[in-house]
Formats: sequence, structure tokens, C-alpha cells
Amino acid sequence: MSNNIINVAIDGPAGAGKSTVSRAAAKAVGYIYVDTGALYRAVGVNALRKGIDTKDKLSVAATLSEISVDLVFENGEQKVLLNGEDVSFEIRTPPASMAASDVSAVPEVRAFLFDLQRDIAARNNCIMDGRDIGTVVLPDAKVKIFLTASPEERAMRRYKELIEKGSKVEYKEVLEDLIQRDYNDSHREIAPLKPAQDGVILDTTGLNLEQSVNEIIRIIKEKI
Ligand code: C5P
Repeated sequence: MSNNIINVAIDGPAGAGKSTVSRAAAKAVGYIYVDTGALYRAVGVNALRKGIDTKDKLSVAATLSEISVDLVFENGEQKVLLNGEDVSFEIRTPPASMAASDVSAVPEVRAFLFDLQRDIAARNNCIMDGRDIGTVVLPDAKVKIFLTASPEERAMRRYKELIEKGSKVEYKEVLEDLIQRDYNDSHREIAPLKPAQDGVILDTTGLNLEQSVNEIIRIIKEKI
């Protein structure tokens, strides 16, 4: 990685506001924002489309030889391509979230997506968010932040987001999904969700978006 390139790794559990906060902070500091969850979601969507059991690791790994997953950036906005098709909307449904969590536990899937993430970070000042960015993908990132909040607050934020988009979901269902995904993500054998030892933990329970973004910007400025 070139010394002039600045990478900020933001990890944390589902619904901690990583994408909203990272996008706003990236805009403020002039970096690109890279949402790595979109990559796992694209692999999950492909498995769902093929009718594959996303918990069946061998079958999921076998899908990788026939797909390409890419990220493109248009006016600073990221789009995720699955075999060249823009699936940026399809990856946001609750089944796609659960499929992403399942496929992300498959070592071949993580290996498949690794170089793409590293290459983008090597070439761009970026804020990259995910679960293992500070610990595995970019262990040398100049800034590492673990963004979290209580499960109830995270579920409420996600619930409001889905309702605004017109989804018919129950709060209880969103909370249960989120707790299940937290468990999967932090207990898997490979690249489990955990704070980097040399990172900063930011708990945004009770903070609004602006306050969270300001905290992130403050931490970035302090470290670079
Ligand atoms: O961040 P997002 O909720 O979109 O991620 C979807 C799923 O992808 C997560 O639940 C997690 O299982 C997986 N993921 C991952 N590593 C990343 C980003 C996402 O395992 N760096």
C-alpha cells in the first residue's frame, strides 16, 4: 500500500449505522466510501436466485466459479455488479441480508472477495466498512473504528429504514434477525466480527447521525 493513501476501516455489527455514517464522513473528508457488505450480499443473492441452500457451504463455494462480483463508483456512489448486472437494490432485502451472513462464513467466499477489497483500498483514499476490515482486510489501515450501539437501538434504526422504503416488516422480526446475524458474524471461525486491538470503539447509542459523523471525523483527523 502506498504511504500516501489513507485507509479508514470501520467495522461493527449489523445496523450500527456504519453505512450512513461512513458515507457522510467520507464525503466530508473527500474519500470514497466502500461498503463491503454489498459484496457478500451479491454472492448471497446469486445463491438465492439459483435456489441453493445458503447454509450449505460446499454448494455456496461451488457457485463462485461461475460468477463475477465487482464494485463501480459513479459520482462517489457505489454500485455492485453481479455478472455485470447492477444488483444494488436486490441485495437490500431481508432474505438477502440473511443469505449474506450465511455465505460470509464460507472461507472460499471470503478469499474470493479479498483481493477486490484490497485493490480498491490500495488505489484510493477510502473509508471501507464491514466486519473484518481493520482485523483482516486492511490490518495496516491508518484509522480503525469499531462502531456499535445497543441491539434494540440498531434494530429500531433498521426497522425505520425498511418501513421508509415501503417494506412490511415487524420490529420484533428485525430485532430477531439482527441478533441472529450478530451471533453468526461474531461466532464464525473465519474472520469473526471483533474490534481490532489497535482500534477505537465508538458506541453510538443515544447519538444522532450528525453527532456520530462528527465523532468519526474527529477520530480520523486525530489519527492522520
Ligand atoms: O454490512 P452488511 O449488513 O451489508 O453485511 C451483510 C453481511 O455480510 C453481514 O451480516 C456479514 O455476515 C457479511 N460481511 C462480512 N464481512 C464484511 C462485510 C459484511 O462478513 N466485511
